Amino acid sequence: MGVGERLKSHRAVVAWLEYQLAQERRKVQDLEAEVAAREQAREDARRARYTVETTWPDMPNVLHRSGCRYNSSPQTNIRASEAVQRVRDDPLVCCTACDAGANITALLSADGGRDDGT
Ligand SMILES: [Zn+2]
Repeated sequence: MGVGERLKSHRAVVAWLEYQLAQERRKVQDLEAEVAAREQAREDARRARYTVETTWPDMPNVLHRSGCRYNSSPQTNIRASEAVQRVRDDPLVCCTACDAGANITALLSADGGRDDGT
């Protein structure tokens, strides 16, 4: 292989490596943004307050974010840690109107400490 061909070949390798590096940098940026967004969601969920709506006998109670207008029972605010515990211990459903379940999911994923990137 002549020197001209070798130069062309190595330039091609350099271009490919630069492309791969740019791809990896983009992936890292995307994942960093995702991690930051998840952490922000967890923090928001941690700071939020919740209420448990008492429903009919034999029906599961409903977890709301505080101030949800679909909660018709007297509201006693509870902290996020208690809300997580109640979801674990009680037959409780999460209100879909105020999306309390999204917060609980964020808290449970933080609580488990498992962030394997899936
Ligand atoms: Zn609600």
